[in-house]
Amino acid sequence: MATTYEELSKEELLEIKSELEAEFEKVKAQGLKLDMSRGKPSTEQLNLSMGMMDVLNSDSDLVCEEGVDCRNYGVLDGIREAKQLLADMMEVPKENIVIFGNSSLNIMYDTIARSMTHGVMGSTPWCKLDKVKFLCPVPGYDRHFSITEYFGIEMINVPMTPTGPDMDIVEKLVSSDPAIKGIWCVPKYSNPQGITYSDETVHRFAKLNPAAEDFRIFWDNAYGIHHLYEDKQDYLIEILMECKKEGHPDMVYKFSSTSKISFPGSGIAAIAASTENLKAIREQMKIQTIGHDKVNQLRHARYFKDIHGMVQHMKKHADIMRPKFDAVLETLEREIGGLGIGSWLAPRGGYFISFDALPGCAKKIVAKAKEAGLVMTDAGATFPYGKDPQDSNIRIAPSYPTTEELKVATEIFVLSVKLVSIEKILA
Ligand code: PLP
Repeated sequence: MATTYEELSKEELLEIKSELEAEFEKVKAQGLKLDMSRGKPSTEQLNLSMGMMDVLNSDSDLVCEEGVDCRNYGVLDGIREAKQLLADMMEVPKENIVIFGNSSLNIMYDTIARSMTHGVMGSTPWCKLDKVKFLCPVPGYDRHFSITEYFGIEMINVPMTPTGPDMDIVEKLVSSDPAIKGIWCVPKYSNPQGITYSDETVHRFAKLNPAAEDFRIFWDNAYGIHHLYEDKQDYLIEILMECKKEGHPDMVYKFSSTSKISFPGSGIAAIAASTENLKAIREQMKIQTIGHDKVNQLRHARYFKDIHGMVQHMKKHADIMRPKFDAVLETLEREIGGLGIGSWLAPRGGYFISFDALPGCAKKIVAKAKEAGLVMTDAGATFPYGKDPQDSNIRIAPSYPTTEELKVATEIFVLSVKLVSIEKILA
């Protein structure tokens, strides 16, 4: 076991500090430009889907299974073959799917906007209520929090545990406060911790007894098939069926997209929900659009063929992502494992590694790394209102840089963590 920094004498810490400072100056002098802030696929990953550009050409028959010409108007909620593909990806019957445009975040925004202006399945529009609140498991996805903040919805932090959100707190709040209308969830390979909700957590979600009839679980399964390993994969219970079994078929909206399967800018996204929920959604949708991009839906359906094609494709993504995650995790373990100055989890999928520094250090670490040319996600971004009460969490995104760049970037990161931690311990 390594000796933790806390156990070292002031003299020992000062000696380590001066060595680290010298090292830091050397790195700084290299004038590097590195970025571990962006949770987006690398060019190499995007190239995996280039075959999609060839499945349709000027000779292609662009008539979908319904017999509709995909170039024209028609088919409001998605062509049959795309629905089948996304239904299998989202593990629900295709009758429970509505396909939108390219972005699931856009569907989440629309879902909240509709609830604000028109209510949920006939209930009072949220904008007419004095107070609307959302539960936000933390750390979480900043763009979820931006949507709820934008609509003036009060956000309440709920701590994450290794098995999902703290369900004692969720149950207590949801059953007692009718102003709580929703909860943001990234149930598989969560952003940023890579945690998958346990069976018990999903069962407890399905059994919730909300005080508000229009309470909905916003189940953003963005990383449902984004495994890193073939032999170590997380399993998540399907929530729609579980809610139905518990007599709450309408309590959940499930979201997903092919953003990190095909192209983030040009994928296809869907919502899965109960028949009644989808009926209400289509009522708005038919006003909003005559239909989304069916040519792109057709392109996806013809390229992947079926869920098996998609699963095979995800193995190629995993082969690119795995060495990157391994590089970051290996450096973290080697350089700061056992020093008592940070903790992290080793996810089995998704796009992120979440790092918890000593309280009060995250902002300083991100600033320190920046001095040496490394851009990290802003500290605080993983919390509602950008405020991490502990100033401790930092999101690491290993997907975009090359493995070689990541190795250097992680060295800079650990140097920054060590320096800022020593300063804190000495203060
Ligand atoms: N949900 C989560 C949890 C994400 O991490 C991301 C992207 O990083 C998105 C949604 C964005 O999805 P989309 O591209 O479908 O809008």
